[in-house]
Amino acid sequence: MARFVLRLPTGNLRSFSVHSSSNGAPPGSGSQNGGPMILELPLDKIRRPLMRTRSNDPNKVQELMDSIRQIGLQVPIDVLEVDGVYYGFSGCHRYEAHQRLGLPTIRCKVRRGTKETLRHHLR
Ligand code: ADP
Repeated sequence: MARFVLRLPTGNLRSFSVHSSSNGAPPGSGSQNGGPMILELPLDKIRRPLMRTRSNDPNKVQELMDSIRQIGLQVPIDVLEVDGVYYGFSGCHRYEAHQRLGLPTIRCKVRRGTKETLRHHLR
């Protein structure tokens, strides 16, 4: 049976940051192959065009706050990136829970899109 020794670049581990990874694929490859990226984004960098047209269930938000405080966000919110601008159309309760908890960033599953994709979401 073959044996493998995994050597880790100990001085370099910090660059393997949790801020960026892709789903199952090697770190960093998501953006190259066009797949979604998991990014920790500042709340105020995510535009929420439909925020005023939808209202959240306050009980859900409270439950999420309690849970996120205890175990952290388990499922990232979906975000669309168009020309370097981030748009969030769902994950409204998780977003509000983060706001109310005073958390500066939120974990996002970011997909690239075109202006046409954006128009489709706004329809
Ligand atoms: P949202 O508007 O954010 O999608 P929902 O109430 O419809 O709110 O769904 C909550 C989502 O948050 C579920 O998909 C659930 O899996 C996810 N989630 C992520 N992290 C947590 C957590 N810590 N506790 C509970 N649910 C969580």
